[in-house]
Amino acid sequence: MRVYNFSAGPSCLPLPVLEKAQVEMLDQGNSGMSVMEMSHRSKPFETILHNTEALLRELMNIPDNYKVLFLQGGASMQFAMIPLNFLNGSGKAAFAITGQWAKKAYDEASRYGDCVVVGSSKDKTFSYIPEIDYSLIPKDADYLHICENNTIYGTKWHETPNAGEIPLISDMSSCILSEPVDVSKYAMIYAGAQKNMGPSGLTVAIIREDLLGKARDYTPTMLNYVTYAENESMYNTPPCYAIYICGLVLQWVKDNGGLAGMKAINEKKAAVLYDFLDSSAMFSATVDKKDRSLMNIPFVTGNDELDAKFVKEASANGFVNLKGHRSVGGMRASIYNAMPIEGITALVEFMKKFEAENK
Ligand SMILES: *Cc1c(COP(=O)(O)O)cnc(C)c1O
Repeated sequence: MRVYNFSAGPSCLPLPVLEKAQVEMLDQGNSGMSVMEMSHRSKPFETILHNTEALLRELMNIPDNYKVLFLQGGASMQFAMIPLNFLNGSGKAAFAITGQWAKKAYDEASRYGDCVVVGSSKDKTFSYIPEIDYSLIPKDADYLHICENNTIYGTKWHETPNAGEIPLISDMSSCILSEPVDVSKYAMIYAGAQKNMGPSGLTVAIIREDLLGKARDYTPTMLNYVTYAENESMYNTPPCYAIYICGLVLQWVKDNGGLAGMKAINEKKAAVLYDFLDSSAMFSATVDKKDRSLMNIPFVTGNDELDAKFVKEASANGFVNLKGHRSVGGMRASIYNAMPIEGITALVEFMKKFEAENK
């Protein structure tokens, strides 16, 4: 019996993807072996890698002057790779602090250069997206970094910041593939796969080519993007199985209307929960309306004991991983692409019942 899994990551995968992987587990395309067992230099795996990249390029409409890299180490590794590779002109960079991940990216980069905060929503527990003070961005900054969707707090940049010539780098770990994006507005986009693209162990980076080749001399080979760009992400053994599942997820996204299709259904899904939260006397959403995420929806009752009771009873009824992040408390429903709308309508029915029983 499968549950409705509201985990923030690793999170639920589309059922057809898991079923396909199950069918192909013992014999991948008449190779007589699983993807996990085959050489990454073999023809069948090369085909998987190329198809996965081609699908991502097609779905995200990635321009030809961008490289798509398949990396490891999670989004957290990018917090160090980005400054090692790009914080090398003026050695200055600008950061918007919209939550814990944005702060970690800033802290790590600060070890390598001069990092300035040009916007922050810390004053209200990151419950909104701040204005960027463009006058604070150094004219010669190497880049501006944002976290596009704030997984823990449930906010999203609905308007892409524009700092002119200054390259924009975005952590899209928890919103990539959830709606169309104009890749050309960004110098780099990156995402850990385990929220909306596949299993953990794979990190995807999309980088404009002119940024490459300026890494610090002491940058380890494995932390230099050029190593991956020059070897089609196969300088060493890539996370083969995670790439394979990512390819199946991308095919599923394509079969379901691409990113425009995802956006339409994601808006519907989120509205089911937000509309209920806005009308409930017990539950409420914690984020400013204009900045709400379609992917992560935190909510509270205002009473810690009631929150705990709700999480426990929800779990017993097949709605799991609804506990909020330890830094904010309350509840959080992560409703990535793979969460079916039925999961959200069923959750709302359960919340109504809980509310009636606990007046
Ligand atoms: C989950 C997450 C991370 C951390 O990802 P890891 O792959 O565990 O390093 C970073 N940024 C955002 C926005 C996230 O949601």
